[in-house]
Amino acid sequence: MGVVLDHLGETRLELGAARNAERKGNWRMGRDGDGIAWLALDKPDTGTNTVSVGALRELDGVLGALEADLPAALVIRSAKTGGFAAGAEIGELADLAGQDAGALLREGHRVLDRLEALECPTVAVVHGAALGAGFELALACDRRIAVEGASFGFPEVHLGLHPGLGGTFRLTGLIAPDAAMTLMLTGKTAHTAKALSLGIADEVTEERHVAAAVRAAVTDADARGHRLKAMAFGMAPARSLAARQMRAGTAEKVREDHYPAPYRLIDLWEEHGGDREAMQAAEIASFAALLDSATSRNLIRAFFLRQGLKSAGPGDSDIAWVHVVGAGEMGAGIAAWAAIRGCRVTLSDPDTAALGHAVRRAGRICKDRHLGTAGTRDALDRLMPDPNGYGIAQADLVIEAGPEDAGIKRGIYDMLGKRMKPGAILASNTSSLRLADLAQGVIGPERFAGLHFFNPVEKMELIEVIRQDRTGDQTIDRLAAFCREIGRLPARVADTPGFLVNRALIPYLMEALVLMEEGVPKDRIDRAALDFGMPAGPVTLADQVGLDICLDVAESLSGQLEKPFPDIPRALRDRVAAGETGKKAGKGFYDWSDGPPEPAPAEDDGSSDMPDDLTDRLILPICDACVTCLRQQVARSEDEIDAAMIFATGFAPFRGGPMRYARDRGPEEVRARLAALADAHGPRFAPDEGWAQIG
Ligand code: NAD
Repeated sequence: MGVVLDHLGETRLELGAARNAERKGNWRMGRDGDGIAWLALDKPDTGTNTVSVGALRELDGVLGALEADLPAALVIRSAKTGGFAAGAEIGELADLAGQDAGALLREGHRVLDRLEALECPTVAVVHGAALGAGFELALACDRRIAVEGASFGFPEVHLGLHPGLGGTFRLTGLIAPDAAMTLMLTGKTAHTAKALSLGIADEVTEERHVAAAVRAAVTDADARGHRLKAMAFGMAPARSLAARQMRAGTAEKVREDHYPAPYRLIDLWEEHGGDREAMQAAEIASFAALLDSATSRNLIRAFFLRQGLKSAGPGDSDIAWVHVVGAGEMGAGIAAWAAIRGCRVTLSDPDTAALGHAVRRAGRICKDRHLGTAGTRDALDRLMPDPNGYGIAQADLVIEAGPEDAGIKRGIYDMLGKRMKPGAILASNTSSLRLADLAQGVIGPERFAGLHFFNPVEKMELIEVIRQDRTGDQTIDRLAAFCREIGRLPARVADTPGFLVNRALIPYLMEALVLMEEGVPKDRIDRAALDFGMPAGPVTLADQVGLDICLDVAESLSGQLEKPFPDIPRALRDRVAAGETGKKAGKGFYDWSDGPPEPAPAEDDGSSDMPDDLTDRLILPICDACVTCLRQQVARSEDEIDAAMIFATGFAPFRGGPMRYARDRGPEEVRARLAALADAHGPRFAPDEGWAQIG
């Protein structure tokens, strides 16, 4: 065991007497010469700790033994180098939905209450992240020592929940309640310095000083600070006022009917803040109810969908050097992102000014991602403008992001074929050209595929990995692994018009433009989509993507689909012809010169004049296209389709993606609705024959 630990670098962690103790279940415990018990969380068979039901039950047993033979102090920390604990076991949470979650939650609370009540000093030593239930475990200790780099957070809101293992009353009781609420409402993480200033951590130390810090902490009788703030908010009127402000702030970000968890958390604190017992009971009841909500079920599913996509890119890509051809909107983003994620990147473009822009853009992305001076310097060192294309011969992967023109792309491939090294992969970022056509004449077509990034590259998590007729399995596997290595989610899709995501999204954008031609105001159209839960309205999105790109993709799709496509609206062609191509031009359907357009207010008397099928006309074509893609095996499963649409387009995650939405609404009802829309507005709405298979 010692040898293995050395290899893992775990010898650097000060585990005190737990170091050589035998692991029992999830824990290792030993007592040192000073009578201090060291308890290390060390979940078997994984590098990351989670707080499972089993781990809590075992902790209960450990606490019983400690009560019977009280140590001088108890130290709790993680034996994993990666961090303290990532939170609850999300699979267990998913299993709890629909069960009597309350009983299990009460059991967990009893264990942490028992830890809190232990009659000796208790100290949590936290390195890396203490999230969710991991943070709650640390909060049940008297003190928290943060090792430099430690962070604390409650990401539960991202799963449609709030803390459920005592976090709501322990954190609001420990630090300024408004700061505690902000952490829980936003799901943001407090890094070491912030954690110290907020009072979450009592002190910060270096790993090598942990033993000394523990000894000092257990002999220091000084109680916890920050009580005064907690008292001030202990008064109901002050809490109500603060709660009103929190509700208003939350409402600016999410709607209560879409994302109820933050609202329930505010209620909980407003009604019971300062009354620990009441808050504990209310936390359990509220958490159990949220766990049973469709929002939480869908967000937990989205969590697993993300894991599923990640695991679709296993192994090692063997790609260390990437050459990107074309330094425009996409090529610049791809090059910057690959460099930030550790690849050596060369970037070529006949337009040298584009190379300069690309480097400046990479600097901006580094800044937005808070990479710091050293991180930014390292990333920019890895990104080399290469006007002569010297990197082509060195690259393991060449990504072509030249103009969307088959002739130009073929010319680029001819040039590359003469210079690329044997075994290197060539991937095109084309949105709308058939890869099988582009593959004609490519040297080594088994190493030619599509790698379709979404715009903006640094924000959109999904990448479509597209196989053409002759692409080899190994090429697809390496590309999928590459996506994972650069922190992106690969979706393996077939070489069909629009692939998966654009195939499903373009009808939504086109329908919005058709509605505009019918006289529906653009901001009302956008509002309907926002109210449904889309991250941006379709007219705004079209402007963001670029109206020229939308037109390109729409034109290419319209000729290739088996079902009728909306006539491409005149207004789209006119804007493109006038150079008003959207956000990048400062003007499209909206004026972007002063920043993004303001969406229409949520309630407006004018809304009653809107067509009552407005939302269905926008959303159901997405569902229908997804059913077509499923039938044509463009993607492998409903799960993959939902995942792709959530992570590429932000399709209302709380609704679980288009397929889940259709299933929740009832496939037969959706099919009938599409048929009715087809009668009213034309055959572009005619339901796909694949609906018959969606039982
Ligand atoms: P862009 O016009 O911004 O950039 C194209 C770049 O290619 C320009 O910098 C141009 O100078 C350069 N170029 C021209 N001829 C070249 C040649 N012979 N060799 C090398 N470079 C050459 O275009 P973009 O929006 O970045 O799109 C690039 C590709 O990515 C297209 O295939 C497009 O369909 C696809 N794509 C675009 C988006 C998007 O939202 N913009 C999204 C996904 C995929």
